[in-house]
Amino acid sequence: MESILVRVGRLRKDCNWEVSSFLYQDFQQPNPPLIIHPANFDLEERVSIVSDPHPPVEAIYTDGSHLEDETAETLAIKEAINWANSKGISTSIWSDSESALRAISSFKSSNPLIQETQQTLLQNPSMQLNWIKVHVGFLGNEAADILAKQATKEGTHLHLHAPKCHLKKMLMNLSLNKWQQDWDSGDTGRAIFNILPKVTLTPASWSRESILFATGHGPFPSYLYRFRLHHSDICTCGEKGDPLHYAISCHMTLSYHFTKPNAENTQLWWKSVLSNKLSRIKIAKLISFLTENENLIKQPPDATSSSDSDQISLLHQELGLMD
Ligand SMILES: [Zn+2]
Repeated sequence: MESILVRVGRLRKDCNWEVSSFLYQDFQQPNPPLIIHPANFDLEERVSIVSDPHPPVEAIYTDGSHLEDETAETLAIKEAINWANSKGISTSIWSDSESALRAISSFKSSNPLIQETQQTLLQNPSMQLNWIKVHVGFLGNEAADILAKQATKEGTHLHLHAPKCHLKKMLMNLSLNKWQQDWDSGDTGRAIFNILPKVTLTPASWSRESILFATGHGPFPSYLYRFRLHHSDICTCGEKGDPLHYAISCHMTLSYHFTKPNAENTQLWWKSVLSNKLSRIKIAKLISFLTENENLIKQPPDATSSSDSDQISLLHQELGLMD
């Protein structure tokens, strides 16, 4: 991801990743060459951001608000200047976008669209740009508005470069999609997959106990048995000692029980149990109960069924060796 960002964003190289390709020309490049001579740049004086309560009637009022963002407003201003230039009008232009005006008045702007607007404005030395606080329906703005809208629709004489943050976002979405695909088709962590099928960058705010419970990697005979910490995966009550057993059926953990899920609703049950704050507190209590009372849930070796006898003799051998 990071390498694509550097290749496309800095080194000006096209790049392919998975099935997507990134053309560097589609994105804004850092530090484009300075296209306006500093001596000719007088826009700091010609763009006013102090709102005038009495703007003149014979002026152009731009309105990019029907479009989408600051870029649209800049576009509207640029088209308004173009329009005035083509008609030979030297008037003032009023915009309600303070950020667009600030960008235009700045010599340091590296945004190509802003630079183009600055050049257009410099072609008409007597034109002023002003800020108007509230947009009032003055005549004259429609022309610029229509032109700006046309420009965004046709997009022919205007090649807008997406800002670099857009590339970042694209890459982020792509990698999230890839992660999701891997998560969907993977075979590890399926217990968690059933509860959290969607990948996200926001960490699930699960407590340690909730994780132990959901993964089953906790003080449960079913888990301890796998690591020979128990000689059996069966609870003292005779049933399989997995998280669900202690959450819904074991008589020893009665005070921590949840309502039993229907066979077809098990996935939903897990989801609701883990997304509810009170249930998570209950889970935490259940886990600490099981941890503190390990001997209570641990079936004594002589009570195990014959199928476990091999395992037990193995365990005894090991214990004997350790002695
Ligand atoms: Zn039990």
